Amino acid sequence: MCGIVGYIGGGEVVPVIMEGLRRLEYRGYDSAGLAVVNGSGELEVRRAPGKLRELDRVLGEAPLSGTYGIGHTRWATHGAPNERNAHPHRDCTGRLVVVHNGIIENYRELRKSIEDAGRAVESETDTELIAHLVEMELAAGRDLFAAVRAACARLVGSYAFGCLSTQAPSQIIAAKNGGSPIILGLGEKESFLAS
Ligand code: GLU
Repeated sequence: MCGIVGYIGGGEVVPVIMEGLRRLEYRGYDSAGLAVVNGSGELEVRRAPGKLRELDRVLGEAPLSGTYGIGHTRWATHGAPNERNAHPHRDCTGRLVVVHNGIIENYRELRKSIEDAGRAVESETDTELIAHLVEMELAAGRDLFAAVRAACARLVGSYAFGCLSTQAPSQIIAAKNGGSPIILGLGEKESFLAS
């Protein structure tokens, strides 16, 4: 069972996400990562296999700064527990990321249709496919909310995920189906997402 933490507000996002992920460590995990949109509006990702202290080490070497982002502790179901399969997963443009809790059951057929559409899938995960599906809907002219909805219509399984794109600044979209939980904390100046 993975952990997801998302934050959007006025403060520095990395300490909030790392503290949230620490509180979810009891659930067990094999790798961790986070994605942050920096002050220039660019998306940056840091990931590491192993415990959160490994991600801390990566962040020490290559710090991140921003006011919104999403983080994840992974319990691998599709693909080995390594850096390449750790979340967040990007689409081909690198401007959109997804963190995901659960299993996409129609993984094989989705992967084939995404590859047939000429997109390179970098990891072994079911999660990366969600990023490609959402990006394909964005490219078709939908906004991020509508794109996530349209992508969900193609997913079979129990899942909860968080998604952000630099094409939709200052937004984190969350979706769920089945038993995977999503909890939102909505405030006036800051909001939280957890699974
Ligand atoms: N199925 C996804 C993966 O293998 C998510 C697993 C999880 O819930 O952490 O990466």
